[in-house]
Amino acid sequence: MKITLAHGSGGKQTSDLINEIFAGSYGNEILSEMEDSAVVRACANIAVTTDSFVVKPMFFRGGDIGRLAVCGTVNDLLMRGAEPKYLTSAFIIEEGADSEDLKKIARSMAETAAEAGVIIVAGDTKVIEGKGEIYINTSGIGFVKDKSISSSACKKGDKIILSGNIGDHHSAILSARMNIENNIKSDCAPLNAMVRRLLDENASVHAMRDVTRGGLGTILNELADASGVSIHLNENDIPVSSEVRAFADILGLELMNMGNEGKMVCVVAPDDAERALSLIKASPYGENAQIIGEAAEGSGVLLHTSIGGVRRVPVLVGEGLPRIC
Ligand code: MG
Repeated sequence: MKITLAHGSGGKQTSDLINEIFAGSYGNEILSEMEDSAVVRACANIAVTTDSFVVKPMFFRGGDIGRLAVCGTVNDLLMRGAEPKYLTSAFIIEEGADSEDLKKIARSMAETAAEAGVIIVAGDTKVIEGKGEIYINTSGIGFVKDKSISSSACKKGDKIILSGNIGDHHSAILSARMNIENNIKSDCAPLNAMVRRLLDENASVHAMRDVTRGGLGTILNELADASGVSIHLNENDIPVSSEVRAFADILGLELMNMGNEGKMVCVVAPDDAERALSLIKASPYGENAQIIGEAAEGSGVLLHTSIGGVRRVPVLVGEGLPRIC
């Protein structure tokens, strides 16, 4: 069935669409109350975040826009040390979209939400004129015990851990867009188990950031700026799969600016770095984690290259790859 403007009218077709596709996929006690707003129980500091997802294509190797819409918001909550609890999901659907695609996306959101231990408690659906594209906004709420994990909390001497190979999501999206055949899969994943393990084991984590749009170079520059330190990286220690490295080489892409959707940087006190690294390596999606450098006096991000040089890593300037998430 093709979605028409009538599905967004607020009448019978809208409620049919909501009941069949959204409530049918990820319904729960709170969502199914269908009130004007959801009421949830809370008893802690609350972390709140929101993100919109416009990725093209909507389905790609390793994931889809639904999985991305849950992971992106869940991971942003986790990066402040929060335990993600509740999500909202708002769909903007262009007329002509296929209801089977919508169903697939809603089911994927349900599976990913279950993996990430969150429930979707509120939603919205709008249908607009267009060419059949689907866009999603998710907002998330999590509970925070300790507010001290922050981008501004990196200290001189801290070790920088990267939780796995960079560039996978970016390469997967670009491959799909350019019809390039390869086996590269998006790394799109919720990082709950990894972060939970670090916090439960009281690892000396000072800051965490998920490495998304803008890539490792941009995220590390933001951390360095916010904390008033420089970050020194060893190029040889940055994990990259051979397939992504070859893909980036052929297309002339800067690995340091390639986006991911299931990787994080974790900044840890030096005397606890090896233990934190083992905790990450033992977690789902963390098996390729590495210590890639450290914070020092100064400013900016400096890459110590494999041939013995040192170069400054800039933040991503300009457009990069649009509609990557
Ligand atoms: Mg983030």
